Amino acid sequence: MHLLDLPPELLTTLLAYLPARDLARVCQTCIFLRDLARTESLWQQRCRKEYKLKTNKNWNASYFEIYSKVLIKYGALLGAWKTTMNCYGGLFNVTYCLGQILVEEYFPTKCIFDSLKSIPWFSISLENGEATVKCLQGFDVPHPGDVKFDQEEVKDGKHTVTTNLICLSSHQEENEDSEEFQRWIEQEKVRGTIQELLEIKWQLTKEKKHQLQLSPLVLPPLTPDRIIQPGLFKGTYSAHGTELLMLSYSDETQEIHLTKITGDPNVPAGEISVYVDLRRPMILNREQQESLQTLKDIDTPDLPPEFDGTRNFSQPFIVPRQCEMEDCRDLPTFCKARYHSKGTIAAFGYQNPTFSNNHWIMISEDVFGVLWLDLYSFSLFNRIKEEFKTS
Ligand SMILES: [Zn+2]
Repeated sequence: MHLLDLPPELLTTLLAYLPARDLARVCQTCIFLRDLARTESLWQQRCRKEYKLKTNKNWNASYFEIYSKVLIKYGALLGAWKTTMNCYGGLFNVTYCLGQILVEEYFPTKCIFDSLKSIPWFSISLENGEATVKCLQGFDVPHPGDVKFDQEEVKDGKHTVTTNLICLSSHQEENEDSEEFQRWIEQEKVRGTIQELLEIKWQLTKEKKHQLQLSPLVLPPLTPDRIIQPGLFKGTYSAHGTELLMLSYSDETQEIHLTKITGDPNVPAGEISVYVDLRRPMILNREQQESLQTLKDIDTPDLPPEFDGTRNFSQPFIVPRQCEMEDCRDLPTFCKARYHSKGTIAAFGYQNPTFSNNHWIMISEDVFGVLWLDLYSFSLFNRIKEEFKTS
């Protein structure tokens, strides 16, 4: 029996199992198979299964076109990314939006209890039957862009692979009086960064800001039996505004690490901001927390015999008067756990990084604080509720 003697429905089902490249080859062998291979339901299934595309609504194109023109080439972009191309870093998410693939930056606002804000950077859509990359930042938006996958680079002796989204238009250098600067500063202000530091950011990023160097965001898996689940958090960094961090566990050192997803000229994105020493829990009373000096003198206090370190231990919590700030006025008067920790501090340009002694204070599963004993400041962190799909 010849392949073509099979009923068309069965042939279509068989074709659905072929890898896309083989399917394309089959299409070249005969017109009958080519027509069968164009069956929409087959491509709809592929779009959904391989690239999670639920509908072709707003695309003005068939599933076959979306798959063969857009997804094969750009489908690998879907999901969450981060960048460390400059000290500021950033979190990016690539999703389907109204008949296109949209690359957006997500950033926190001054209040850590608000949701993240997003701004579009690039889009990929089908125009006149061809996939078209557009830059959505700068003047005369949109204008042409491009994607370069898996660019290899050796930087500081480290081998990195990034995907680059590039603007093909030449954005002129703009001065502080320009409309673009004003628009940019309005958009950036919501992060809570002070104006002087924003002006530095403009100077440091303006030439590169229409190019994105992305690497995949890998989130640590959820782990039962831990005092707090890993994940993404927003945290207050005084003059630098609100920053994004990833909480993960380091089993070798028995520490919690808070790694910067967004950073600043002092401690850049990609560096660890706080190391929580899980071997050094504390239980403090209210009086001990009233003055910073008393807190600084506390080494590892005696723990009650029933404390075994594996579960949380509710205890009084107050922010010492010298460190009080807006965000901590309505905090509860009890916390679930308290540990010695150390935090990275550095001069401008990440020069002479050293550690500041601090306390890590878990308030709930979603909220914790860091008391910077040497800096007289208190940072508050809140878990990010938005979901980011990672590979
Ligand atoms: Zn551009």
